[in-house]
Amino acid sequence: MTTPILPGATLGMLGSGQLGRMFAIAARRLGYRVHVLSPEKNTPMGQVADLEVQADYDDLDQIAEFAQGVSVVTFEFENVPAETTEACSRYCPVRPAGKVLFTSQNRLREKTFLRDAGLPVTPFVAVKSAAELTAGLKQQGLPSVLKTADWGYDGKGQVVVRSLDDAASAWSALDVPQAILESFIDFESELSVVGVRGLDGQFVSYGPIGNSHSHHILDVSVCPARVSPAIAKSSVEIARAVLEKLDVVGVLCVEFFVTKSRQLLINETAPRPHNSGHLTIDAHVTCQFEQQVRAVCGLPLGSTELRSPAAMANLLGDVWEAGTPDWPAALRQPNLKLHLYGKQEARIGRKMGHLTVLAKTVDEAERIAREARTALRGAPDPSE
Ligand code: AMP
Repeated sequence: MTTPILPGATLGMLGSGQLGRMFAIAARRLGYRVHVLSPEKNTPMGQVADLEVQADYDDLDQIAEFAQGVSVVTFEFENVPAETTEACSRYCPVRPAGKVLFTSQNRLREKTFLRDAGLPVTPFVAVKSAAELTAGLKQQGLPSVLKTADWGYDGKGQVVVRSLDDAASAWSALDVPQAILESFIDFESELSVVGVRGLDGQFVSYGPIGNSHSHHILDVSVCPARVSPAIAKSSVEIARAVLEKLDVVGVLCVEFFVTKSRQLLINETAPRPHNSGHLTIDAHVTCQFEQQVRAVCGLPLGSTELRSPAAMANLLGDVWEAGTPDWPAALRQPNLKLHLYGKQEARIGRKMGHLTVLAKTVDEAERIAREARTALRGAPDPSE
């Protein structure tokens, strides 16, 4: 049996955004030290880490030095190159393993793996030219969604193709060697299940969580999701199968579409804590970040019991448009928790923070979260 990595040890993180920051906060609460490596300085995670190393992911000398200073390496975003995790794995365990990252960082590899494992995914074809796109559109039907195979998140690098005449312009606009063409799903709702798997195979999950997006970016999440017990059960079963088939040690989020005929289709997976799981910090006994710490350290996982119905609303840079948000206006809600990521510059569409509201029902939690977010912009509070 592998010896667990105990509090007092140093944990290494590749990537330094808000997911790393919340991991670091959870890790420090448990008495660990945390080191972070990314190409940036004064980052959301760097501000709360014991050590912030600024280096490119392909600087393998720096990567090796970093890995020698920690007991385990994990990551907080998908686009870390495979060579980087491989270099780390010469000195310490990388959890989840680099091969999990490799599979999920490319939409074609990911969807092919899931489909071959017998799991339900959005129908797709691989596309490498305008001619293949035209053929794919004829096969998949219109509209379809064309997405870059690599480096895509939050709707970046994707376009809805509505007519065969648009194929050539859509292909050249994407400007990549390889893409994936998916059927456009006229879904009823979107869900996610955040799954956690320990070193010994123990599995726990949160969810499902109900998600609504705005401009392809997550806007509001609620837990529990407003779905039937049957859909809830099968979403968790599918998520469990994904973590087991990928042999994940750590956290992995599975995002689903629920079709109008109540079928679950996997849209994508992310082998790390997920934006939709941020409400677990305030709403669950153990949050997704503490679970990431426990899982990568080989410790038993914590309870995922929901303490209260909850809603989370993202705070994008847009909230800063008219100046500093009116923080007291939101904090007047006693069951609201404000989380800010320490980012210096508020840009439109940039995730700056989130707020979570606990209430007696998800409807009430969602209403209060949305109203509080509106109040941040100085708009009148409708409850007054
Ligand atoms: P993604 O970056 O793939 O997670 O996409 C972001 C959002 O775009 C999703 O959460 C959906 O709201 C929408 N979307 C992505 N793919 C599709 C699809 N095949 N059909 C319909 N909507 C989609």
